Amino acid sequence: MNGDPLDARRLVVKVGSALLVDGAGDVRDGWLEGLAADIADLRSEGRQVIVVTSGAIALGRAALGLGRGPLKLEEKQAAAAAGQIRLAGAWRDALGRHGVPAAQVLVTLDDTEGRRRYLNARATLETLLRLGAVPVVNENDTVATAEIRFGDNDRLSARVAVMASAETLILLSDVDGLHTADPRTDPAARHVPVVAAITPDILAMATGPVSGVGTGGMVSKLAAARIATRSGTAMLLAKGSADRPLRALRQGGRSTLFQATSTPRTARKHWIAASLGVAGTLTVDPGAVRALQAGSSLLPIGVAAVEGAFGKGDAVLIHAPDGTPLAKGLVAYDGADARRIARRRTDEIEAVLGYRGRDEIVHRDDLVLL
Ligand code: GLU
Repeated sequence: MNGDPLDARRLVVKVGSALLVDGAGDVRDGWLEGLAADIADLRSEGRQVIVVTSGAIALGRAALGLGRGPLKLEEKQAAAAAGQIRLAGAWRDALGRHGVPAAQVLVTLDDTEGRRRYLNARATLETLLRLGAVPVVNENDTVATAEIRFGDNDRLSARVAVMASAETLILLSDVDGLHTADPRTDPAARHVPVVAAITPDILAMATGPVSGVGTGGMVSKLAAARIATRSGTAMLLAKGSADRPLRALRQGGRSTLFQATSTPRTARKHWIAASLGVAGTLTVDPGAVRALQAGSSLLPIGVAAVEGAFGKGDAVLIHAPDGTPLAKGLVAYDGADARRIARRRTDEIEAVLGYRGRDEIVHRDDLVLL
């Protein structure tokens, strides 16, 4: 919440198509090399980086000879299919030169909203980061059912940042931040360095009576800022066209900082505590009560009884042996599996269920004490 947003432990960097793909539909390799070097630098300081990248459609339309005119939805989806493989390859090569493994993650907005997929996607991102990879995320455009709009990845990147509890989201774009009006049409437009809250005044800066292609762009950037900041992720909007764009930003390049209004951890705990209905109850033993109160995860061995028909990722209440509500959390197993592994040791899970699930039945990151 305070301090330099670039000093984050975990950052999401969003890259737009215009930065990554040239007019002929090829990857701008030189620029990507510079960004990959910046990402490698951040990682060598111990920071974790997730990339959200656009460019699949822009690369694919050239590859499929689709020309420059407007595309029908199914043509965009075809272009995305042809382009994504190139996009992923470009990132793999660029990061690979620094010894950094890239991992392709294709998501739909649904994955960030449906709790079961959300938990899985979150766990996969966590695992990739732990293993030292850079997740390279794009929307799964080929199966998207709604119209694909440029700018969708702004919102997607905010959702990914929230899902991963990143402290900072950096949107690299073609503008160096928010202005009081469109700087291309209004000479009186002033740059806004810091936005503490997304008020109607701020929203009006993007929806003012200016025409031109840039305004829609700012609307989606403010939508992203809103998603990010209210969930504890600060957002930096900066121009990405410099050769080493993140280094330029760290050296004082102009940007707009949208300040987070809480920390990711607090926002997530608040979300779990306040906004989710419960679908079941896990009653735990006295040892687990002590473990939970000390901040640990809930392991299956500490669960004495399971009530309710819940799905994986649903919210459940955790009761002390005397029935007192103790905590609320997102459960990593459905009701049937939870009943089978209750009172079992973690190393028995695989034998009982026939698959190796999570070690914890409710992970401490998914749990809030009441
Ligand atoms: N997912 C689209 C692509 O990779 C881009 C969406 C956007 O530009 O926001 O082509």
